Amino acid sequence: MAKKTMIIGEVRDGELRHVSFETIAAGKVVADGGEVIGVLLGEDVSGLAEQLIQYGADRVVTVTHPDLKSYTTDAYQQAVLQVIDLEQPDGILLGHTAIGKDLAPRLAMKAQAGLVSDAVAVELEDGEPVFTRPIYSGKAFERKRIKEGMLLATIRPNNIAAMEKDPARTGDVSSITAEISDLRTTIQNVVRKAAGGVDLSEAKIIVAGGRGVKSADGFKPLQELADLLGGAVGASRGACDADYCDYALQIGQTGKVVTPDLYFAIGISGAIQHLAGMSNSKVIVAINKDPEAPIFEVADYGIVGDLFEIVPLLTEELRQILV
Ligand code: FAD
Repeated sequence: MAKKTMIIGEVRDGELRHVSFETIAAGKVVADGGEVIGVLLGEDVSGLAEQLIQYGADRVVTVTHPDLKSYTTDAYQQAVLQVIDLEQPDGILLGHTAIGKDLAPRLAMKAQAGLVSDAVAVELEDGEPVFTRPIYSGKAFERKRIKEGMLLATIRPNNIAAMEKDPARTGDVSSITAEISDLRTTIQNVVRKAAGGVDLSEAKIIVAGGRGVKSADGFKPLQELADLLGGAVGASRGACDADYCDYALQIGQTGKVVTPDLYFAIGISGAIQHLAGMSNSKVIVAINKDPEAPIFEVADYGIVGDLFEIVPLLTEELRQILV
């Protein structure tokens, strides 16, 4: 049965994150022929509305207010609840990002909706959306449906393919000014630690290093390989704890969960807590001098040897092919 489905687009540094488009594709399944409404929140986001339509949204509602310039739970919650009141959707989808993970449970509680968190797939079964989500750190998958009332779901980046961009697609864009009051938190200033580079959680290719990389300098060949492939550098907690790199790069149970098309695990042993963050990557290449390292149990391709010899060779070979 056709359902009115709302997706919350995510804006960072003035641009839409790709997961917004993937969420539209999931929204199309949930809507089952019904309307997919893109919602954009910010101080001034009207310039981005058209992109949501080109990626499949039927129309877009922009919600503007100076307090929406940077994400705060309070302000975003108030603004989205206003759109829910206005649109009365049957379902709402968000990216499973830092913002989505924070906002979705609060919206679910306020709107009395059922929440499926961290979905990697959605399909219709007897006309009802059924979400697949990983459990036990990615060792198994469960399938979930919301039986009653409004449904909310967060969609893990890099799992549901976005629709092809169609520049000819058109749709209505309307704008509302949010009513926001009694904020407990306001953002005075945002200071970014690292600038530029490919976003780890949305990267299609990740080159991750572990304690085997041995120093901050040891990460340089990994960065070179990542740059050549247009990927991002990640790390194990071993490497972060040893101060070879920033904790923002940590992948795993207490770091980021990633699902790239290609994951290089270099000098990483493959502890269960690391696997929790990357074992659902589509292709895993492990480079380790220890043939017994557990990472080889999840790797699609394994290279046993010294990473300081192998990584530069690999980069050089790939450069011949790619450049
Ligand atoms: P090591 O286990 O020391 O492995 C280094 C590897 O490098 C070895 O396999 C070695 O053979 C190889 N190596 C060494 N030199 C070379 C060389 N020259 N060439 C090739 N290979 C070489 N870990 C995470 O990664 N992410 C998490 O989110 C996380 N969360 C945790 C949460 C909890 C509650 C706990 C208890 C632990 C957590 N850990 C996490 C830590 C985890 O248990 C491991 O300690 C950590 O993943 C080990 O990092 P590593 O593989 O880089 O280091």
